[in-house]
This record gives sequence, C-alpha cells and structure tokens, in this order.
Amino acid sequence: MSTFSALGLSAPLLTAVEEAGYQNPTEIQAKAIPMVLTGRDIMASAQTGTGKTAGFTLPVLHRLSEMRASKDIRALVLVPTRELAVQVGESFSTYGKHLPLKAATVFGGVEMSPQIEAIEAGADILIATPGRLLDLISKEHVSLSKLRILVLDEADRMLDLGFKDDIERILKNAPEKRQNLLFSATFSREIKQLAHEFQRHPVKVEIEDPNSAAKTVKQVVYPVDQQSKPEILSYIINGGDWEKVLVFVRTKKAANKIAELLEEDGVSAQAIHSDKSQHLRTRTLEGFKSNQFTALVATDVAARGLDIEQLPLVINYNLPKVAKDYVHRIGRAGRAGMPGQAISLLSPEEKPQLESIRKLVKQPLKVEPLPYFEGGETRPVDITEQLEKKQPRKVRSQESRDKRAAEKRKYGPKPKSAPQKRRRSSV
Ligand code: AMP
Repeated sequence: MSTFSALGLSAPLLTAVEEAGYQNPTEIQAKAIPMVLTGRDIMASAQTGTGKTAGFTLPVLHRLSEMRASKDIRALVLVPTRELAVQVGESFSTYGKHLPLKAATVFGGVEMSPQIEAIEAGADILIATPGRLLDLISKEHVSLSKLRILVLDEADRMLDLGFKDDIERILKNAPEKRQNLLFSATFSREIKQLAHEFQRHPVKVEIEDPNSAAKTVKQVVYPVDQQSKPEILSYIINGGDWEKVLVFVRTKKAANKIAELLEEDGVSAQAIHSDKSQHLRTRTLEGFKSNQFTALVATDVAARGLDIEQLPLVINYNLPKVAKDYVHRIGRAGRAGMPGQAISLLSPEEKPQLESIRKLVKQPLKVEPLPYFEGGETRPVDITEQLEKKQPRKVRSQESRDKRAAEKRKYGPKPKSAPQKRRRSSV
C-alpha cells in the first residue's frame, strides 16, 4: 500500500492530510496525484466516495505553491451543483491550510457581492458552478487570463445538466495552454468527445468499473405497491432505529410531501431540492450532518456529490429514471470504506428501471420480501400482504389506540405497518 509521502506531495500538504486523519491514499489518489504533479492532462473515472476530491485538490495545491506568487486565478474547478462547490471549497481550505494560497467559491442563488469581494481579495483558486461564473466573467469581476489548471469535476453530470455550452463559453476566456483534469463517474461517448475537445493526450486514470456499485454498500430491493410507499418508508426508518437516512425521490414536490409525511409518523425529516434557497439548503445539510434530524429527503440534483460522513442508509423511494443515478445515490452510503446499506422500494411499474440498473451495475440485485421488525426482532414477512389485509383509512377504536399506546411504552415508537386513517396520495 502506498503512502502520501511517496506520492511526492510537499510537507505542508502531508501535514494537512495527517491532520485530516487519513492514513493512506485511496486508489484514485494513489493513481491520480503523481500524474497531476507531472503537469499532464488526465481523464479520471471515479465515483464520489472514492476520495477523488483530494485526488485533485492536493496536487493542484502542490503545483500552485510551486508557481510564482500572484494575485490571479490560476486554478479553476468547475462543478455541477452548489453543494458540490461548497464541499470542494472546504477541501481546498482543509488541505491548503498550511499554504499561503487562497480559494474563492462562487455559485448561483446567493448574493454576488461577497463572492466578488473574495475574488478581489486575490483568489488563487476559483471553485464555481458554470452559470454564476459566466455572470461574473461578463461583469468583468473574474479574469481567467492567467489560468494554468482547469478541473472539470463530475463532468458527466455537467453534461447531463446541459452545461456543455457554458463550459465552452467559459473556456474561451482562458489561455489554451493549461493543464486540464477531467473527473467523471462514467466515460460515456459524450464525455470522451468533451475530453477530445479540450484535452491534450490525456492520461486515463481508472479505478475499477465506474459503473460497479460501491462494494461496501449492501443493496436490497423490496417489492411494494406505490400507494404503500409512505407507510413502508416510515416503517423501515422507525423499525431499524436508523440515526441518519438519506431518502431519494424523483420530484421536488415529492421531496416536500415525503418529508411532511415522515414527520407525521414521528421521523424527524427535512427536504432538500433546487427550489429551496441556497441558505436553506446549506442549513439543512449542516443540520443533517450534525444529527439534528433523521431523514433527509432529496432529489437527485440536490444530492449529487453530497459528502455526508458515516451515512449508514440510503433509501430509493423511487428507482431513478436514469440507471447511473442509482450508482450515485447508493454511493452516498458506505463512504471511504465504511459499510453502508441501500434499500430500494420497487413498485410494479418500476420493473423496467430495475432491469436497466441490473444491466449497468452487472449485479443481480435480489428482490426480497420486506423484513418485519418487532421489539428489535426481525422476521421475514412480506409487508405488501399485510397491508392488503388491513382496512385502509379505518378510524381506530379506543381499544386499539390503548393497545398501541401500551406497545409504544413497551417497545418505544413502533412503525406503522398499516395505512393510516388519513388519506395519502401516492407520491
Ligand atoms: P470524495 O470521494 O472526494 O467525496 O471523498 C469521500 C470521503 O472520503 C470524504 O469524506 C473524505 O474526507 C474522505 N477521504 C478522502 N481521502 C481519504 C483517505 N485517503 N483516507 C480516508 N478518508 C478519505
């Protein structure tokens, strides 16, 4: 196993890495760092959770610290989402804290003036989402004329989100002679084309099959009907006594609705999606990271690239429409070698999606009956059957309410295994 010092990083960076508590470089770091240090272009395949951020942050900091000091932006990291921008910005602060280099982070949805101030204070590194950066360039607050290193992080996602033209427009403002680093979870035809457009003889850095789902994540699929999903979700979260759960849904509306329903069922929950203000999204994420509530209900866009340490469980409330999003979603659990679990709730109409996911991850992905939790015991019972037997929206008798209260005292809050009396729309 290699060590960070063997990769050729300078002492201030090795100290920062040690302070971050990392003992050895991850596979992508061991392969990418020495390559980036040579100054060559690289095209790296790496999922979130593999340590790819440090894989480019460390060598970029190293290279910048060896260049003559200036007040110009010399490294630009383009990222698809605001959350990722914040996280990459934090990585530069963490790893660069013993170096005299400054980083500024810019993204839309918040006021521009503090970002302009940070740039004008002399940023060496700029981390940006494409839209806000173009705005800043057009208003002449940012000049890329001295750019030496460009990083495209999560390039596949940037293409999915339609940022290709923005990237091209941004790069028209930068010198052609520069180092280009491209990180992408997949090497699709479009990514290869993008690489061909703006890279020069890139070295390919690959770790495992980019489509193989994170090895440390235990994956299971439970067959349920769409109507029962809200109850089953509360049931799983309550029954498993999970401390932190990330729930993926397809739409912003569903994210709000599910978070509300979970709250009604005694699971503290918040929604995160792109209609929420940036301040609120940052606050929500912080709250989730510091265990202020249990479930974070997210859409794919908002959750992309989120780095949440020690996340034990990811639940796919819906299977994603695009199979590769499944890989990204479950990559949130089991980070940096920590074990994690991914549960998918599969309704009959989602079977075609399951098939495309199976093909992509090249795993059978077993469909199992949902386990039934009671007083800490787990019995394998298919909940769909139970749910069908019960009368929906039945007003509970006093006797049954007393029984539930007694059970709650005995076992703690117990998940509801039957539809509630309130009407729930299928979300
Ligand atoms: P990333 O794939 O860049 O999102 O990183 C995933 C997580 O791994 C982050 O929480 C990092 O702090 C952590 N990490 C990065 N490099 C290492 C390392 N060499 N050893 C242990 N953890 C690491």
